[in-house]
Amino acid sequence: MARVFDVIVVGAGPAGTSTAARLHQHGVKDVVVLERYDFPRDKPCGGGLTGHCDEALAALDLRLTVPFVPSAQARVRMGGFVRTVTMGRPVNVIRRIEFDRSLVEQVQARGVEVRVGAAVESVRVDREAVTVRLESGEELLARVVVGADGAASVVRKHLTGNAKAMPHRLFMQELPAQLTDTAMVYDFTPMSAGLRGYLWVFPVKGGRANVGLMHYPSSRKGGPELLRLLRDGLSPYGIALPARGARGWPVWGYDPGAPVSAPRLLTVGDAAGIDGLTGEGIAVAMEQAQVAGDTVARALTDGGVAFRGYRRALRRATVGRELALDRWLARLLYQAGPGWRRWMSLVLFDPDVLEMYAARVSGSEVLADQKLRLWRALVRHVGAWGSRTRQLEAAMAAAWTPDAAQSVASSPTSSFSSSPPSSS
Ligand SMILES: Cc1cc2nc3c(=O)[nH]c(=O)nc-3n(C[C@H](O)[C@H](O)[C@H](O)COP(=O)(O)OP(=O)(O)OC[C@H]3O[C@@H](n4cnc5c(N)ncnc54)[C@H](O)[C@@H]3O)c2cc1C
Repeated sequence: MARVFDVIVVGAGPAGTSTAARLHQHGVKDVVVLERYDFPRDKPCGGGLTGHCDEALAALDLRLTVPFVPSAQARVRMGGFVRTVTMGRPVNVIRRIEFDRSLVEQVQARGVEVRVGAAVESVRVDREAVTVRLESGEELLARVVVGADGAASVVRKHLTGNAKAMPHRLFMQELPAQLTDTAMVYDFTPMSAGLRGYLWVFPVKGGRANVGLMHYPSSRKGGPELLRLLRDGLSPYGIALPARGARGWPVWGYDPGAPVSAPRLLTVGDAAGIDGLTGEGIAVAMEQAQVAGDTVARALTDGGVAFRGYRRALRRATVGRELALDRWLARLLYQAGPGWRRWMSLVLFDPDVLEMYAARVSGSEVLADQKLRLWRALVRHVGAWGSRTRQLEAAMAAAWTPDAAQSVASSPTSSFSSSPPSSS
């Protein structure tokens, strides 16, 4: 008689290791994590531990044991307009090659089995168990399978079939760079050239920077075009993207209506969908993993492996409410037509909104609990709709000058000590 694990977790990224850690906290120990690669393995990522990552690590009894750069400021830019916002608490920028390995080592140290070089080819759900077939041909059985296998998730495909949707596209590269400080730069300037998203420059240890961009799928853009936008967008910072470009990665935005479970199957992390507004997902994965771990532990006890309530549980958790709000904001801010200018000017030119969002990014506040404040800002903004949009156009027209870049490099670091929207 073949062995049947209680749980197979597919993928040993932050979602998989966090799910295993949560199950271990519940005393669920008959767990194996299957991972395609060996560690250290890299993963294209900005490395910003945003949101409630600190709380998630603490809740899972995990520690941040790798080098990081604490970044206390977010610098938001659109052409000649720059505003520096002090975050509620620092965002820590790590390297994924180090961070993910440290999480794997921490769960292994408490006895969790992580099988590397175990690439899952398919899953088949039967009445009594799930059969997980590896590319090697080996088959493993489990009562429950958690798909923590990232954006190209085999488990997600099993749940969604061939549903067609356009992915977010992200590109990143780590490069040597002499940054003037440790602020995290979020630059929306390339939106004037067709990007629907932002370009980032994050500080990395050792005189380096993590640079990249995210494109929201309201319009289709090819890799060469996005790389050109990244290259052009970096030049005012004095950062040259090498000829081989940056590493690209398609990911799916979180959709509260999309399937995240079926009998005996759950997805978590990128397999369930990233934050549509920012493209972030490390903290998301670790927060969702707690919901997934709790759900699976309960099911193993009471035998209720249908997981009908999992989608609702994810949606109702703080992380789900934040993702739903960000999905809504992303549709406004990154829309294909010209309407995005109105909404972007609300975010950029209303210090209160920017402060709220910076607090959300750093995890010091839950934006989904600030809807009334957001709504008030919107009402304030509607009165100034025309002038704000003109202000934005003027800021965009001031894009790409060395002076604008200089103002980013030297802008003061106190709260809201922005260069004024000078071109307005
Ligand atoms: C360019 C870029 C920049 C980003 N920047 C940030 C950022 O600054 N901050 C942030 O919070 N988020 C960021 N993200 C998002 C973040 O990287 C993801 O949300 C995060 O990695 C999700 O973790 P995960 O464990 O769900 O997936 P992953 O980290 O992708 O882990 C999935 C694991 O599953 C394994 N796997 C996949 N398929 C199989 C299979 N068939 N069999 C076995 N194993 C398998 C993979 O090898 C991998 O180890 C960025 C993403 C990109 C692409």
